[in-house]
Amino acid sequence: MAKDDINIADDDLKAAKKKRETERQKEWNRKNPEKARAISQRTYYKNREKILQKAREKRRKEHNPNIEKSRERQRIYRAKNPDKTREYSAKYAKLKDIENPNRHAERYAREKEKLLSASKKWRKNNKERASEIQQKSSSRRRASIKHSAENYTLAEIRDLRERSGKKCAFCGERGRMTIDHIVPIAKGGSNGIRNIQFLCRLCNSKKCDFDPIEFAQKNGRLL
Ligand SMILES: [Zn+2]
Repeated sequence: MAKDDINIADDDLKAAKKKRETERQKEWNRKNPEKARAISQRTYYKNREKILQKAREKRRKEHNPNIEKSRERQRIYRAKNPDKTREYSAKYAKLKDIENPNRHAERYAREKEKLLSASKKWRKNNKERASEIQQKSSSRRRASIKHSAENYTLAEIRDLRERSGKKCAFCGERGRMTIDHIVPIAKGGSNGIRNIQFLCRLCNSKKCDFDPIEFAQKNGRLL
């Protein structure tokens, strides 16, 4: 037998084996419909993002073979209509938030470096808008602190510092501490002493926009 013949025979063998396996699998699925459904669901959820992304790309290409051109058109439209684009994005983001309230924290945990450098780049290219956003958010923050039912006093802060042994509430390091709102002001946290803790700079910068419970979990403080 020539070498090619052997290869072909091998391929046939492999194909036959695969077919037998598929048949067996189908038979098993028929006999165990509930288990089969559970397994397929589990597999689906595990690879959900990938599957959906692939399907989306496929649909897009089928629906519109000139997808690159449309994307370019879209980009131009967005650049020309920033307000409409923002409005639409905000609406879409709200829907997504309802679907998964933790999506930002999850994504941040997944792609921190990428997000930080993208945001830095964006701020550099959109200086005016960036400072507008910054001002808005800090004035909102000031307003909610002002209207907070409680406000910590200097005496309370000193007392807390003594009681905490001048240590970071998360990692236990000593050194320069920052005053941290356990539940962030932006998330409706109070400005009262009960919502205050001392964090070292490193822990404070890591906390960022995480949910406090989630942050504690990440740091192994909670289960
Ligand atoms: Zn720390």
